[in-house]
Formats: sequence, structure tokens, C-alpha cells
Amino acid sequence: MKIRSKSVVPLVVGLLVAVTMTFGASVKKKELAVASIENHKTEIIGLSDQVWAFAETALLETRSSKLLADYLESQGFKVERGVAEMPTAFVASYGSGRPVIGILGEYDALPGLSQKAQPSKEALTPGAPGHGCGHNLLGTAALGAALSVKDLMAAGQLKGTIRFYGTPAEEAVGGKVYMVRAGLFKDLDVCLAWHPGDKTRAAVDGSQAIVECTVEFYGKTAHAAGDPWNGRSAVAALEFFTTGLNRMREFVKPTVRMHYTILNGGDVPNVVPAYSRVWFWLRDSKGAGVQQLLERARRIAEGAALMAEVESKVTVHSGNWETLVNLTGAKVVFANLSWLGPIAFTAEEQEFAKTIQKATGIPAKGLDGAVRPWKDPLPDPEGGSTDVGDVSWQVPTMGLEATSAPLDAPWHAWPVVACGGMSIGHKALIYAAKALAATMVDLYENPKTLLAVQAEFREKTKDVVYKPFAAEGPPVLVKH
Ligand SMILES: [Zn+2]
Repeated sequence: MKIRSKSVVPLVVGLLVAVTMTFGASVKKKELAVASIENHKTEIIGLSDQVWAFAETALLETRSSKLLADYLESQGFKVERGVAEMPTAFVASYGSGRPVIGILGEYDALPGLSQKAQPSKEALTPGAPGHGCGHNLLGTAALGAALSVKDLMAAGQLKGTIRFYGTPAEEAVGGKVYMVRAGLFKDLDVCLAWHPGDKTRAAVDGSQAIVECTVEFYGKTAHAAGDPWNGRSAVAALEFFTTGLNRMREFVKPTVRMHYTILNGGDVPNVVPAYSRVWFWLRDSKGAGVQQLLERARRIAEGAALMAEVESKVTVHSGNWETLVNLTGAKVVFANLSWLGPIAFTAEEQEFAKTIQKATGIPAKGLDGAVRPWKDPLPDPEGGSTDVGDVSWQVPTMGLEATSAPLDAPWHAWPVVACGGMSIGHKALIYAAKALAATMVDLYENPKTLLAVQAEFREKTKDVVYKPFAAEGPPVLVKH
């Protein structure tokens, strides 16, 4: 015992000192990362405002992706453009060796959501797109975090590789799915993501799996009054199909979400329509559930075609896996949010948010910049899907949400665009950049943390074979 205590005690003390020193050193480096972001603040916000003004939709983000790629190149990153057969996808790298840490950036806008940076609804350019999901903030905050890591690497403070992924078309085909298929995430040790929101918290709730399809019906045209008996209506089949899908709603789990729009429903009433097309999305909390829904929808399409005496064709265009939450990683993120503290909004910003809340008929609670307490994940994620889900099955992925919009404000809507183009959005972006950078410092500096994150990932994916929902070939937009 005596002999052991003699050797063990100094060892334990030594370890404690090492841990304390590592922790102390990490905090210093986090402070350096934060200082670097403060240094680049004006430029990063400038980039965000430009992407906000470009407001380019899925796969058409030419100016937005070029702006971010050019900037990273000017900062010493090696940039590969047009990856995974998408002209607006790119990968920017800096540094060498392990660990290799990735960070995801998005920059696509949504159609028809053009909005001025003011608290009442008014389009900047009527009918034009707008950043209704805050992806102008998303991409530039990830860029800011990557840039600060690069600054620390250049100063000899961190060792390894940082890789920024310019990921297009999150709102439509899910560009990351195609980047996954191109093997672009294969050699990452870990990946980080974030999303603007109405709360500030570590991302623990995941997202739903989704499959995006169309069904087409091919009938036979005829004069609707002259010889209708010679016609077979593709629109009749469309109606049978949507009726079938709507009847199925009663017999699905509460975690299921199904929605559709009619893309082609005939031209004029006096011509029996020979062609119709429905665009439908099926979601569930897990990919297996989505697979079952898809099989049921295929049978409904067949039944609809049979009744209308026409032909049917179901095409799966794209889809996302549910997000695999890495709890070990989420706790590292949470620790860094707690370290940073809340986002401080001014009285003017709170007033701006309350005006929006009044205009949209929700309680005028303003902005909530506090860091939400830790909470365990939900067994089933709430509604919504993202292509981050597909990345999360390739590499341990962790992330956060930062407040960029009024509490409970409608999403994919004008309030998000309005706040994303002014100081509320800017604060979320700078905050997220700092939180992501601080989390990365932990992952570069503490091999044990990284190993624990990876061990959890290996355990959760050991029996899983990933196969994307997306159709083969480059992404194709269902609707332009
Ligand atoms: Zn989004």
C-alpha cells in the first residue's frame, strides 16, 4: 500500500495539474478564437448582408457561394469549387494532419420571401426570394468559426485541419446528400453545424427523415363534351391518389407528416387531361418509417391509376435521413454556450421583435437570448428535416441553435428575413461563430473528448448501412 500510494499520489496530482493546465490553456485559446472573430466581425457581417441581399435559391447560389469561397481563399484556405457535380458546392481547407474538423455552411434562400429589414411586412423586391430560414447567417457564422480556427493554427496555437463545406440547396434537393455520396466527409474526425432559431441551445432533438417524390399519371385526351367516353383522365387519377393519401392519415403514427402540392392538373375543362403530376413529401422520425410510407404511397398510386384506367409513375427525387444526435458532442457544445453566456439584445432590438410579434398575432415576448438549460433529447424529433441528417451518419456531428428571430415567430416567413438583415441576425451570427469556434478548440485540444465523441458514434452506427434516399446522378430540382 505504502509503495503504491507513493507512486500513485504524484501521478494523480500530475494528472490533475495536466487537466487543469489543459483546461486553462483551452480557455486561453477560446479567448483567442473569440478575439479573432471580433477582429473579423465587420467583414463577416458584411458577407452575411451581401448573401442576404443576393437571396439566391437552391442550386442557383452562384454569387453567394463565390463570395464565401473567394473570401476563404483570400484568407489562405485551399478551395475546391463545383464539388459533387454542383457548381455552387465547395470545400475550403486549411492546415494539415489530424484531427480533421468539418463545419457546414449553407446559403440558399426561399422563393417569394423578399422582405425589407424592418418590423412590418414589405417586400424588398416583390416576388423575389428571401432568406426566410436565415441561411445567410448560417453560412457566414460557420465561415467565421473556420476563420478563427485558421488564425489560431497560423499562430501555432492549434494543430490539425479545418474544413469548411459550402453546401447548397438545403431547402430543395439537399446538397449535402450528394456531397456525402461523393465521399467528401469520409476522412473527417468530427463535424459541426448550427442553425438560426428563436432560442439559443445545444442541438439535441435531431430532425425527421424525409423522402421527396412525385407521382405522374398518364391518361388519354378527348373532347370533354364531344366524346368523353374515349378519354381517360389523369386528373381523376390525381384526385384518387390525393384522396387515398388523405385517408391514410388516419392510419399512421403521430410522428408522420405528409404534404403535397399539385404541379400539373390539366389545362382547360373541355379537354380530358392526359397528364397530371403531384409532388409529395413523406416524413417520419426514422428512415425506416419513411420507407414504409413510401411503399404505401406507391400502392395508392397504383390503385388510383387502376380506378382511372391510366398509367402511373412514382419517382423518388431526394430525401434525408433523420439526424443522429451525438450526446457527448452536444454536451461539449452546451458547455461552450454556457461559457459564452446569453446573447445580449438592446431595447431597440427587443422593440423590433415585439413589433413583429404583434404584426403576426403572437404574444409580444421579444427576443430570448438566454442559453437554454441542458435537456435530454426527445424520443422523436419535432417536425422538420435537414440534409445535416445524412452527414450525421457519416461522421459524429454536433451543433447548436442561436437566437436570430423573435420567440415563436413563424419560420420560413418574412420575420426571419427581416431580422436576418439587421443587428438581431448579426448578433446571432457572431455568437454562433464564437460558440462553434470554442467547441472546436475543445475538440482540437482534448483528444479524450474527441475519442469519446467518436466512440459514441461508432456504437450508434455499428449495425447501420447508410443508403441515401436521393436518386442517382446530380440533383435535379422538381420545380424551378
Ligand atoms: Zn434552414
